[in-house]
Amino acid sequence: MSETGTTVAQALPEVLRRIRDAELRYGRVPGSVQLLAVSKQQPAGAIRAAHALGQVQFGENYMQEALQKIAELADLDCEWHFIGPLQSNKSRHVAQHCAWLHTLDRLKLAQRLSDQRLDSQPPLNVCLQVNISAQDTKAGVAPDAVIALAKSVHGLPNLRLRGLMTLPAPAEDLRAQREPFAELRALLEDLQRSGLPCDTLSMGMTGDLEAAIAEGATIVRVGTAVFGARPPRR
Ligand SMILES: *Cc1c(COP(=O)(O)O)cnc(C)c1O
Repeated sequence: MSETGTTVAQALPEVLRRIRDAELRYGRVPGSVQLLAVSKQQPAGAIRAAHALGQVQFGENYMQEALQKIAELADLDCEWHFIGPLQSNKSRHVAQHCAWLHTLDRLKLAQRLSDQRLDSQPPLNVCLQVNISAQDTKAGVAPDAVIALAKSVHGLPNLRLRGLMTLPAPAEDLRAQREPFAELRALLEDLQRSGLPCDTLSMGMTGDLEAAIAEGATIVRVGTAVFGARPPRR
C-alpha cells in the first residue's frame, strides 16, 4: 500500500473513534454525526484509500482541483461536497457535479445554482455559511441576515436547504471553541422554529470536532486528522 494509503488506514478509524467518543460523552445519538473527509490538496490516491475503508463523503475547496479528482474518481460512488468559497462564474460546476454546497452566502448564487441544477438530478443540498466570530474573514452571512436568506433559498426548486455551516476563528480551549458553535446551533433552532425543515449543522474540524459535537454538529469536516498534513498549495 502507498504511504498515503497506510496513513489513511490508521488515521480514519482513529477519527471515527474520536467522533463516537464525543457522541457518547456529550449525550448525542450514536451515529448522528457524519464524517466529511476533507480531501483538498490531497492526491486522488488518498481518496481511493479512504473510500476503500468505507468513507463516501468527501469535501473539496478549490474548483479546478475538485473537478480533476471528480473525473479521476468517477468509478467510485463518492458524494462530493464543495466547502470552499464559490465564485458565481463557477457555480455550474457545483450545480452539476456536487451533492452538497456548504458555503452558500448570497441569494444571487442560490438562484444560479437552482437554475443550473439539472432536472434529472436530485436537489442540491445547501448550507448557509454564517459569519460567526470571524476575525479577518468576511466569508459568510451575518447572523441577523440568516433567516431572510434561508426563507428565500427554501423557495428555490432545485435546492434543498439543509442547515448552517461555520468556520470560526481557532480557539485554544474547549470552552472557547464551543461558543461560536453554540451560536450556530441557536440560529438553526431559530430557523426550525420559523418552520424551515433544516437538519444540518456543519461545524468542527481536526482541532475542534469534540467542541462542535458537544454543541450539536451533524457533519464534521475533517482533513488533517484523516489524511495527514496538507502539502503546501502550488
Ligand atoms: C480545510 C478545511 C477543513 C478541514 O480542516 P482540518 O483542520 O484539516 O481538519 C474544514 N472545513 C473547511 C471549510 C476547510 O477549508
